[in-house]
Amino acid sequence: MRFSHCLTSVLLSSSLCSPFVLADDKIPVIASFSILGDLVQQVGGEHVTVSTLVSPNGDAHVYQPTPQDTIRLTKSQLFVVNGLGFEGWMERLVSASHYKGKVITASAGIHVLAFGDEEQNQPDDADEHHDEADEHQHGSQNPHAWHSIPNTIQYVRNIADGLSQIDPAHKADYQTNAGNYIQQLEQLDKSLLQEFAAIPAEKRKMITSHDAFGYLSARYQITTIAPQGVSTESEASASDIAKIIKQIRKENIKALFVENISDPRLMQQISKETSVKPGQPLFSDALSDDKGPAPTYLEMMRYNTAQILAALKQ
Ligand SMILES: [Zn+2]
Repeated sequence: MRFSHCLTSVLLSSSLCSPFVLADDKIPVIASFSILGDLVQQVGGEHVTVSTLVSPNGDAHVYQPTPQDTIRLTKSQLFVVNGLGFEGWMERLVSASHYKGKVITASAGIHVLAFGDEEQNQPDDADEHHDEADEHQHGSQNPHAWHSIPNTIQYVRNIADGLSQIDPAHKADYQTNAGNYIQQLEQLDKSLLQEFAAIPAEKRKMITSHDAFGYLSARYQITTIAPQGVSTESEASASDIAKIIKQIRKENIKALFVENISDPRLMQQISKETSVKPGQPLFSDALSDDKGPAPTYLEMMRYNTAQILAALKQ
């Protein structure tokens, strides 16, 4: 729109396309993955154009930046990442692209959960099953902090502060947008706390492919078992799977989920051996596309928790 405006303007007066006009242009922001992209859009509103590196339904664990991604990053003023080792490819991308803009870590300041708490479920032999995957370690930090709404509220605050720093002229708008959005988040969290608490503790148990829901589980007091551990890059060993199958039978676990980004075969095998039918895929590390049930963070949270609540109530 700006371009066509300038073209017409050139015929009238070139001064209409002066830097003063450009100064009111939207801030180009790049987010590492789709969930963060939505949060940035909620806070930035009309003042930003947001693009994401890992697209909806994409897997950030095994993502590899393309030359086009490098160019897109170079043209951005703000790069928003999750941190906690989620984007193992990030530093290399920043240095390869000579990106000079601001980088903010959305998870800064949250209480980080270690994966060690669920050590018995972590596969011992983390073989790579994606040949082209980058070799990186997540350590013992669980990076999927956005599945706890209080953490996401901290993400939103960090994003609002980051945008305010690079675009102080619209600071009031960013803080207002963040405040309104945080209210919606708090409302959803409050109703979910009540709904999960209404389910007896011994029934609050579920199985997911990789440990993306550790924070959601901690928030709503669900015991979660994940054969793949913290990253989709690892492969569950035969003994891990056997152990989980035994546990499902013994504890009569009814909630079994695959994820939109994961290979469903492992869960299909567990389902077959336990006769527990998997629920609809949960959205763990990426939103759905616009036609899917989880095109925004709020819709993703409502959708995932509705599936989990229904499965736990069985
Ligand atoms: Zn993940």
